[in-house]
Amino acid sequence: MTHATLTSTLTIGLATWLMLHGLAQAPAAPQERITIRAARVFDGERLLRGQVVEIDAGRIVSVGPRTGPVTHDLGDVTVLPGLIDVHTHIDWHFGPDGRYGNRPGAPRATPEQRDAAIAANLKATLLAGFTTVQNLGNRSDAAIREAVAAGTLPGPRIVTSLGQLQPGQRTPDQLREAVRTLKTEGADVVKTFASGSIRTGGELSTTLDQLTAICSEARAQGLRAVVHAHDAASIITTVKAGCHQVEHGVFADDAAIAAMKAADVFFDPNIGLVLQNYIENRDKFIGVGGYTEEGFAFMERAIPTLGPIFRKALDAGVRMPLGTDAVAGAHGQNAREALARVAAGQRPIDTVISATALAAQSLGMGDRLGRIAPGYLADIIAVSGNPTEDITALQRITFVVAQGRVVPKS
Ligand SMILES: [Zn+2]
Repeated sequence: MTHATLTSTLTIGLATWLMLHGLAQAPAAPQERITIRAARVFDGERLLRGQVVEIDAGRIVSVGPRTGPVTHDLGDVTVLPGLIDVHTHIDWHFGPDGRYGNRPGAPRATPEQRDAAIAANLKATLLAGFTTVQNLGNRSDAAIREAVAAGTLPGPRIVTSLGQLQPGQRTPDQLREAVRTLKTEGADVVKTFASGSIRTGGELSTTLDQLTAICSEARAQGLRAVVHAHDAASIITTVKAGCHQVEHGVFADDAAIAAMKAADVFFDPNIGLVLQNYIENRDKFIGVGGYTEEGFAFMERAIPTLGPIFRKALDAGVRMPLGTDAVAGAHGQNAREALARVAAGQRPIDTVISATALAAQSLGMGDRLGRIAPGYLADIIAVSGNPTEDITALQRITFVVAQGRVVPKS
């Protein structure tokens, strides 16, 4: 989706978070030594039985069969790496009137209301088993990233673009400068656009020179570049420009899929949550910006095409980390994306990998996230059932450890 026009321009300072009564939990709980026994452990690759996972100081230190007492005997559950969503808008929320956006005459949220709404989104996402999200993105993410990392705000680990780089009419040199500025400001990734919104048809809107400038400068700065691209021309241009990942791809055709496969770029199709959530919350969005009758008609027509496009890309062998594009109303329902993938033909075990090891790899964090193995960061969840055979188990979260700390259930 194109969100730039609606993205809040306000900045939340860390101090604001900490001042808010009930949100700040300083000092952070210690990262204790934890031992977890479970009937099944999915380590990011294989399903193991009768294992104990040991965590100390925020890291996994051992995985293996062991007898004797443990701190958490979870019984008949599957333990797996914390889930990762590679495309969210965690700050999007409905206003005090229950609707989205700043419309003329609409009541404005106070900073406290806004912060509370974002805190609720963060908590819902974490309790849904998503311990890392890539937020694409807003300047306020920096403070959230810091507070979550410090353990003072309950939420998923935040990887952020700190904004959205609209190429517009800017020259390649100006775009390179903009990428360097984002790097200086602390962005983890660059989010840019090769096409318009799905609500206006999703056609190529950027030149190859502009995209090449952004993606090559991002690489030079050690950043990844992820690109909103809907139609085939915009996807192929993204691939030619050497970018890291294609977002959405709602109108991808065989040539676009072949191009992504040939270049081995990551593809993050959002097939199970974002458009469905817009339709379900139509009354809360319509009338703001591009959320017109015509825009909704585009979205409704697109939904039945999503599964078949995903299936084609799957059959072609394109690497597809799991991302939802979760907006207001969708936070905490991220696992619906996984169910849609299986419904479209992916094996459940591969869907679980797409939300763990593969997603971590797409973030450039595959050496420390997305697996249960010694040395990895201790983001671990447990689910009732076996998600490698029944993907709906991802909607039955029973236990969450984030950054080595057990997350309270409420
Ligand atoms: Zn988005």
